[in-house]
Amino acid sequence: MKKINFSAGPAILPASVITQAAAAVENLDGSGLSVLEISHRSDAFDAVLQEAEALIRELMNVGDEYGVLFLSGGASTQFFYTAMNLLNPEETAGFLDTGAWSAKAIKETKLFGKVDIIASSEAANYNYIPRDYSVPEGLKYVHLTSNNTIFGTQFRDFPETDAPLVADMSSDIFSRRIPLEKFGIIYAGAQKNLGPAGVTLVIVRKDLLGTVQRPLPSMLDYRVQIKGGSTFNTPPVYPIYVMMLTLRWIKEQGGLEAMEKHNERKAKLLYDEIDRNPRFEGTVANEYSRSLMNVTFTCTDDADTDAFLAAAEAAGCDGITGHRSVGGFRASIYNSMPYEGVETLVNVMKNFK
Ligand SMILES: *Cc1c(COP(=O)(O)O)cnc(C)c1O
Repeated sequence: MKKINFSAGPAILPASVITQAAAAVENLDGSGLSVLEISHRSDAFDAVLQEAEALIRELMNVGDEYGVLFLSGGASTQFFYTAMNLLNPEETAGFLDTGAWSAKAIKETKLFGKVDIIASSEAANYNYIPRDYSVPEGLKYVHLTSNNTIFGTQFRDFPETDAPLVADMSSDIFSRRIPLEKFGIIYAGAQKNLGPAGVTLVIVRKDLLGTVQRPLPSMLDYRVQIKGGSTFNTPPVYPIYVMMLTLRWIKEQGGLEAMEKHNERKAKLLYDEIDRNPRFEGTVANEYSRSLMNVTFTCTDDADTDAFLAAAEAAGCDGITGHRSVGGFRASIYNSMPYEGVETLVNVMKNFK
C-alpha cells in the first residue's frame, strides 16, 4: 500500500516530482546522462540552476536587490552563517524565541555578537507565538523562525520594526504569500517544503553584506557565493534538480496564492476535527498561533495514544508520532500533502472507537 507521508522532514514531495526525479536518474531530458553524473559546470546543470532561480524570483517576487543561493549545510549552518555575515561583536541581533530551532540560532549567534531576546514562549514549552512585545531600536536585525516545526506554531504577522528580518522559513517557505520587503535574509533547508535533504535555499539582500570586520572564509561569505552563482564549489546537484521540479509544480498549481488556499483548507479540515472530537486536543495555546504546516495534537485520554497510532497506520498514515518534546501526534501537511491525505487522517479520527 502507498503510504501517506505525514513526516515532519524529510517530507512528502508531489507524486509527479518523484516520478520525474526517478526518470532523470536514468536519463536527464534525453541527454543520455543521469542527473547524478552530470558536471556542475555543464550546460544542462546551468539550465537547472537558472530555472530554479527564475522560478523562486517569479513565485516570491524577488528583485535584483536580493541574491538567491543554493548552499549546503542545512538550516543549522545558516544559524551561524547569518550572524557571521551580518553581526559585529559590539552589535546586537534581536530574537523571537519560539522554539528549539530559534534557541539553536540564538546559541550560535552569541559566538559572533550580542543577542537581545525580544520575546520568548519558552516558559510555556513554546505553545504560542508571542504578540505583546515591541522591538527596541538599534538592532542590526531581528531573527525569527516563521514556522516552528516541532511545536506546531507559526507567525501570522511579522514584527513591526525598521530592522531587517532574518527568518528561518525551513518549514513554511512557499506555503503562503509574505511581505518580502521586510526580510533581509530568508533561509530554508529544502527537506520540508522544497525537495530532498542536502540543499538550503538562501535569499539575501545584498546591501546588508560587507559590514562586518571579521575575515570570512570563502565558503562562508554570502558575497563569494553570490559572485560564484552558488557554484564556488560543487553544489548539491541532485537536490537542486528536485527542488527545481518542485518549484515548477508550485507554479503549475497557481503559485503562492493557490498554495495558501490549499494549505488553509487542509489545516481547517484537521483543526476542525481536533476541536470537534472530544477524544482529541490541540497542543497549541490559541488559534492565532496554530501552524498550517505542522498540526500537533494529543489524545484526551493518554491511554488511547497507542491505539490511535495503530489505527492511523492501518489507514496508511505514516509519520504522525509527535516530537519527543511535545508528545502526542504531529501531522505535517506541507504543500505537497493532498487534501485527500488529510481527509484520510480525519476519517480515522472520526471513526476512532
Ligand atoms: C528542520 C528544521 C531545521 C533544521 O534543518 P537542517 O537542514 O537539518 O539543519 C531548522 N529550522 C527549522 C524551522 C526546521 O524545521
